[in-house]
Amino acid sequence: MLVEGVDAGYGAVRALDGVSLAVAPGETVALLGTNGNGKTTLMRCILGLLRPTRGRIAATIDGVTTELVGRSPEEIVDLGIAIVPEGRRLFPRLSVEENLLLGAYRRSARAAIPRNLEFCYDAFPRLKERRGQAVGSMSGGEQQMVALGRAVMCAPRLLLVDEPSVGLAPILVARTVEKIAELKERLGLTVLMAEQNFHQAIRIADRGYVLVHGRVEFRGDSPAELGDSELVRKFYLGL
Ligand code: ATP
Repeated sequence: MLVEGVDAGYGAVRALDGVSLAVAPGETVALLGTNGNGKTTLMRCILGLLRPTRGRIAATIDGVTTELVGRSPEEIVDLGIAIVPEGRRLFPRLSVEENLLLGAYRRSARAAIPRNLEFCYDAFPRLKERRGQAVGSMSGGEQQMVALGRAVMCAPRLLLVDEPSVGLAPILVARTVEKIAELKERLGLTVLMAEQNFHQAIRIADRGYVLVHGRVEFRGDSPAELGDSELVRKFYLGL
């Protein structure tokens, strides 16, 4: 995944200002930044939900590079790009299994439903036990697992995860992050994870970028480099 010089915004609000970043196949890259610094906006641009006013976004999947700007979200999902959105966006009255199946609504994913469902239940045994339960009656941590499972149902190669920690107790954030790492290993995914929770993000990230007011202000090529940066220490860790 390559993002080059992307500007994007909402009317007069410029949310991204010349953002460039790269995620190589098989990497887990953290997109760090506190609230309102543009993380979700970048995710929306990658997924075709918001059109950048400038710049280039390209994804290389299984050796084939595709330009994403101008494509519809449906086309982008078909390429093998899935998102676990901020706030999970599940259907609370539908069951676990119904929510999972909604992840496979594209024709490209339908043929693989039995296999992907079996994979989800193997990766999340708790969801199998509760497959018939309404999602709205489950805990936040369980709901996050449903949201991850739903993304897996469209057999992604590149997984975008937007703020998985939001609304979760610390222990559940840790479990969620571990699950993302596990899914990544088992499915051979490439992961771009937006997160405010610096400590949890760098547990699984190979490296990361820090967004401040819509600009990449820092690139850390290892978790240690990120942790040592003045910017991170000042803004995130209050040091
Ligand atoms: P959060 O964690 O709150 O989602 P973020 O880093 O993902 O933060 P964005 O949601 O991308 O940040 O927001 C970037 C900027 O764009 C902010 O200034 C925000 O107020 C603005 N913004 C986001 N969505 C809209 C919208 N629909 N209309 C107008 N401005 C928006």
